[in-house]
Amino acid sequence: MALRNIVKDPDARLRKVCRPVKEITPHILQLLDDMAETMVYADGVGLAAPQVGVLRRVVVIDVGDGLIELINPEIIEFSGEQTGQEGCLSCDDRRGIVTRPNKVTVRAMDRDGNVREITGEGLLARAFCHELDHLEGVLFIDKMSRELEEDEEYFEDEE
Ligand code: ZN
Repeated sequence: MALRNIVKDPDARLRKVCRPVKEITPHILQLLDDMAETMVYADGVGLAAPQVGVLRRVVVIDVGDGLIELINPEIIEFSGEQTGQEGCLSCDDRRGIVTRPNKVTVRAMDRDGNVREITGEGLLARAFCHELDHLEGVLFIDKMSRELEEDEEYFEDEE
């Protein structure tokens, strides 16, 4: 495994639509391993391949309940609403308020090529939305209703 450099906004690679993975090659498995290691090292809860400069539809997430690897993920169902604070490893210390669905079901391939459906609520639902947006070249700063000041504290659902 190896750490990869995290691409920072306004790098143009963060604005591209990523291509699907056609075949799970050793190269893709290495990418998954490196992304997980890079995410942990950077103390993030999710990382999408374009954030390490690879324009493929690959995402890793860990909100504290174990590593989730997603290849060619799609949101197939969502419901509810949550409003909360969001940040991004590609946007350094910026944080903003973003409204997302509260419950999201994603269909994706795992590293063995099995198609799985995973439902997440709260933070996991938010991470699914945030990371899948990256695959479309969309960042949370495009969707935030308001940016937080550097030392501002935000309490869930206060606005
Ligand atoms: Zn991000």
